[in-house]
Parts: sequence; C-alpha cells; structure tokens
Amino acid sequence: MDPASSAGLPQGDHRAPSGSSAAARAPGVRAASPALLSINTATVRAQWTMPQIVDALQRHGIRGIAPWRDQVARDGLMDTARRIRDAQLDVTCYCRGGMFTATDPAGLRAARDDNRRAVDEALALGARCLVLVVGGLPKDSRGAPASKDLAGARGMVRDGIGALLDYARPAGMPLAIEPLHPMFAAERACVNTLAQANDLCDELAPGDGPALGVVVDVYHVWWDPCLEREIARAGAAQRLLDYHICDWLVPTTDMLNDRGMMGDGVIELPRIRGWMEAAGYRGAHEVEIFSERWWKVPGDDVLATCKARHAAA
Ligand code: ZN
Repeated sequence: MDPASSAGLPQGDHRAPSGSSAAARAPGVRAASPALLSINTATVRAQWTMPQIVDALQRHGIRGIAPWRDQVARDGLMDTARRIRDAQLDVTCYCRGGMFTATDPAGLRAARDDNRRAVDEALALGARCLVLVVGGLPKDSRGAPASKDLAGARGMVRDGIGALLDYARPAGMPLAIEPLHPMFAAERACVNTLAQANDLCDELAPGDGPALGVVVDVYHVWWDPCLEREIARAGAAQRLLDYHICDWLVPTTDMLNDRGMMGDGVIELPRIRGWMEAAGYRGAHEVEIFSERWWKVPGDDVLATCKARHAAA
C-alpha cells in the first residue's frame, strides 16, 4: 500500500508513479536500516510542538531527532533537552547556526554572538553537530541585498566559520557546513557545492575532520556531477557529519517549501546513500521536508510515510 494514499495526500502530477518501487530495485544497495531513521523537526513543524514531536517519535519507534532552533526556543531549551534525554533520542544535528554575512562590524559581531549561543544550545541538547547554513549576500535592514559582492560574502563566511571553530572545537561541538543549492546563493548560503564546503574544511581545519565537516542534503546537491567524488573526499577526511533526505519534485513549485517525500521525485536516493556508505558514513538518515503539502497532512501519517519510504531510500 502506498502510505501517501492512506494519508489522504492529494494525488497530483508531482508524484512520480513508480518512484519508491523504482528506488527499491536499485542494484547493489541494501535496504536502509530503520534504526538510522531520524526526523528533522521542520518536517512536522506545522502539526506539532516539540513535546508533541518527541512523544510522536517514541510512538512510532523512531530513534533520531534533529531539532530546529526556533521550535526549541518556543518550548524552552531545558525542557526540550530533558524530554529528548528521557526519550533516549539521538540528536542527529541541531539546525542551525550560520548566517555569517553582514554589512558592518556590528552585524558581524551579532552573528558571532548568535552562533556561539547556537553552539551552547547544541551542547545542552546533546547534538552530534551544529549545522551551518552560512548566509548569502549581506542584507540591509529591510532584508534586501545590500551588496553584489559574492566573493566578499564568501570571505566573510570563511572568517566567520574560522572564528566559530575556535569556540566550538574546545567545547567539543562539531560544526557541519551544509552547502545549499545555487538558487539560494543570494538569500541563504553562498556555499553551494560539496567541493566548496570540502575546500573550506581543508583550509580551516586541516587534518581535523570531525571538528569541522559537512552535511550532505540531497535536495541541495543531487544534481552535482562531482557529488560521488566529493562524498568520497569528505569521507576520507572524516568530514561526513550528517545526511539529509527528501526528494526533488518535477515540477518544483516553490524552491523553499515544495520538497518531496522520498520516492515522489527524481533523486536516486539509494545510489547516493550507497556513495555515503562507501565513503564510511554510518550515521543517521534524517528526513527534512519543508512542504506546504505535507504540513497539511496529519503528523502521524507523515511519520508513517517517512518510515515506509525510508526503507527504500
Ligand atoms: Zn538540510
């Protein structure tokens, strides 16, 4: 049975009819271990509070969680940390730090201070790493681009990560750079390929893999012709810190909030997971789906569908 049908999800053109079954037939890749499934809390952010998410993960037998900062703040850091500890959930990452670019020194200082707080929160939650979405072009007070200097923005990102590393490394919190699809270069992240993230790691933390690494989010990097090579490169340097899964719908109607459920789109998930495993990655498979469609589906149906689709992803 197709779990999406039972969830009452509208059957539209966005669904690839053979998606999950085609993925299940991929040669040479074993089924994904259910024990590695983790849920990024953005996936059910419209349905549930943090306490409800923690309860739901226990109910569904899902062992991993990746909380977002704003959701944690709403329900309280210490309360959330206690609930997660009591439920014995594995915090596969904390989302997120970053946004290192700014127009002036005061903005850069504010970003530095906020990132240090993010490290402290990640430690309180027992997260495996702090995800960094690094920021795009600097913005003015109204949120509009204040500069076209992309190279300059990338320089600020390098300096910002370097400075945060000096704080996070002694504290024992690994930093994980998440390259974002180039369509986000202006607004969210000017690190856009895994090669670029690997280069930053090599420059800022040579030979210190786990302290500074990368997140491989399939939504952002699936199209990259160098993906297999760069995953192998990150793995060889002990830099594969997290793996985010979802799918790329055709057509994608909103670049931020129209991510697909695994199996509904065109990403060869078993192949990419195979590259991760070949590179030595043994960590979580974290479902991160920003989707106006899925935010309308009851949370229990979303989690049941995540479990079913993960097996073939
Ligand atoms: Zn992600």
